[in-house]
Amino acid sequence: MAEERFVESEMQPGEETLENSLRPHTLREYVGQQAVKDSLNIYIQAALKRHEPLDHILLYGPPGLGKTTLAGIVASEMGQNIRVTSGPAIERPGDLASILANLNRGDVLFIDEIHRLSRSVEEVLYPAMEDFAIDIMLGKGPTARSIRVAVPPFTLVGATTRAGLLSAPLRDRFGIIYRLEMYTPEELASILTRSASILKVRETRPEGMLEIARRSRGTPRIANRMLKRARDYAEVRAEGVITLDVARESLAMEGVDELGLDKTDRTMLATMMDKFGGGPVGLDTLAATTGEDATTIEDVYEPFLMQLGFVMKTPRGRLCTPAAYQHMKRPVPASLGGNALETESTDI
Ligand code: ADP
Repeated sequence: MAEERFVESEMQPGEETLENSLRPHTLREYVGQQAVKDSLNIYIQAALKRHEPLDHILLYGPPGLGKTTLAGIVASEMGQNIRVTSGPAIERPGDLASILANLNRGDVLFIDEIHRLSRSVEEVLYPAMEDFAIDIMLGKGPTARSIRVAVPPFTLVGATTRAGLLSAPLRDRFGIIYRLEMYTPEELASILTRSASILKVRETRPEGMLEIARRSRGTPRIANRMLKRARDYAEVRAEGVITLDVARESLAMEGVDELGLDKTDRTMLATMMDKFGGGPVGLDTLAATTGEDATTIEDVYEPFLMQLGFVMKTPRGRLCTPAAYQHMKRPVPASLGGNALETESTDI
């Protein structure tokens, strides 16, 4: 397992308080994801008019893009409470049955990492989602029978890093499915400006905010974490003002380059280039060579490297692009249209 990374998009230990204080509570404050907000707004208004709970919602996308935040917003826009849990935390069918039985009418139940529910727990969820009921087994062996018990109507909001990880029967029971996209630097800068005022940063310059935004891998969680470091740096070195230079210097200190790549990303790219000629290289081979977990590579590192256009997925494995070679200051190989092997070709 890799050590903790500064640009990690999963929440790190001790970050909960910071995150909660920075979470927007209304759709209006939630920056970006315009298509999601527009459609959600309509479904919320319609459900409120009919005095019914909102349909079940599945949110998917890389960590730190605002799935938990959006679940909280759904609850507050519906005027309801939210109950937060996660796939791994619900170990037995009875755990889920008791959570469901204790909900109040209209509550939002948020299950993070919903793809990690066990099959037997999932089976409790099916009738609960469809009919607001759970089947309880009474007795054992041949005399066992099940009785159906009603649970209060609720809205399930499930979050997962990839919709493909969910079993088909579970996925089919969600009426609304949204994929959250990475944020543009401008959207992140606007999130940062709002966060800076909550964090009581003395002063921020737009160029400073944009610089942090550009380096935060399209991810609000990372942007907010970088802002905290920049605030520290500014307080000690720049009288509390986050300027362009303060942003640059504080991030350089954390080993984050101008595109937001850190040492782990650069090691990954360098391994692909130096050990596998830029690829194609299979995910498992890459995981074994870099000492990283295959799922972490796929869910956390790769989406950003692919968004930058540095890595491509092909049927034969992962491939580095010429842009990646340029960023890593290595000659682009001839096979990718570069002239790294020029000396050989000029001999012909
Ligand atoms: P996820 O559940 O997808 O891992 P979270 O909802 O926990 O992500 O978001 C991580 C942090 O990023 C939160 O503290 C929140 O303040 C911030 N954030 C995420 N999305 C937005 C957004 N659209 N607008 C403003 N802040 C956001």
